[in-house]
Amino acid sequence: MTDRIIFSRPFRATAERDNLLTVLDSDHSHGDGQFTRSATARIKAITGADHALLTTSCTHALELGALLLELGPDDEVIVPSFAFTSAATAMALRGATCVFVDIDDTTGNIDPAAAAAAVTARTKAIVVMHYGGVAADMGSLLNLAATYGLAIIEDNAHGLGGTWRGRKLGTIGTLGTQSFHDTKNVHCGEGGALLLADEILMHRAEIMREKGTDRAHFLRGQVDKYSWQDIGSSYLPSELNTAVLDAQLAEFDTIQANRHRVWNTYASALSAWAARNDVRPMTIPADSGHTAHLFYLRMPTEDRRDGLIEHLAGRGIVAPFHYIPLDSSPAGLKYGRTPVPCTRSANFSATIVRLPLWPMLSAVQLTRIVDAVTEYRV
Ligand SMILES: *Cc1c(COP(=O)(O)O)cnc(C)c1O
Repeated sequence: MTDRIIFSRPFRATAERDNLLTVLDSDHSHGDGQFTRSATARIKAITGADHALLTTSCTHALELGALLLELGPDDEVIVPSFAFTSAATAMALRGATCVFVDIDDTTGNIDPAAAAAAVTARTKAIVVMHYGGVAADMGSLLNLAATYGLAIIEDNAHGLGGTWRGRKLGTIGTLGTQSFHDTKNVHCGEGGALLLADEILMHRAEIMREKGTDRAHFLRGQVDKYSWQDIGSSYLPSELNTAVLDAQLAEFDTIQANRHRVWNTYASALSAWAARNDVRPMTIPADSGHTAHLFYLRMPTEDRRDGLIEHLAGRGIVAPFHYIPLDSSPAGLKYGRTPVPCTRSANFSATIVRLPLWPMLSAVQLTRIVDAVTEYRV
């Protein structure tokens, strides 16, 4: 019996334990200490963002974003049907209506034409999720946002360090969010970040992140006492989390090189089999620098997809699918509306299968996965 190959295994960076001991031996384990400062600087260096604020999760960064954009019950936000729940729930939490639109069948990203058709007088923002760290069609989306004066929220949980025409994902729209959940390329258990360029939004975001107080400005000596200034919440992570995050970010290049090694192996080793079997492997548009966050295959039918998952499970390989379309999920029906049925999203969800992708996957394990996939007769 061979070992089971799991779908995702958290990377462990060399300095994590030492950093954690430094925090435990200090008197500072609440937020905004030395590791938060260091990790923030590293995120700004990787993304080129003017401002970055660490948060307790990407979901919280999206909630903070929705607060900053002052979304409310009169507003609509355009959200891709094929996406993780966080962006939708962060908008719904403010009382805004999610308007679900279909995706581009090649990338799984929001379809700008579908978004354009969904704009109404109440539309305030568009959520863009760069699926798998592959850039959405930002040219069309920026034009659309400029035409109607809409904000663009980039859910960049998959795309740290990714690019669109050389511009860094997460810094192209009005605001961007990152996730440092265990399943993401860089992680600290639970964590996130908000990326911003606008000074006024940044000033307010610092207050909203710190229970509505100007504590951040006080600590920098910009005000002589701190007080309640605005609504907000407690979105800052503990130093115990950022100590791990900082160590991971220090090894970002190693993590990415190894993820790309795995991604490239799948892409080259599976292409002939895919072509023979009417399977479409993940492809990358020429203007996108992707992040090797995930590798997927699009099977010709749902049946053949379920068959491949079962075939791989029988060989000890865990290959899941994901994203039940938001528009057809129970909360999507309650908190959103769907002007046009999202048929491409439904098909994407029904035919996708993801292969294991983590930095320490060995050549032997990769060969086992490739052999198991190519044994499968579609
Ligand atoms: C993981 C993920 C999130 C949520 O991240 P958390 O840090 O767990 O809140 C949001 N959006 C996408 C696309 C994700 O993959």
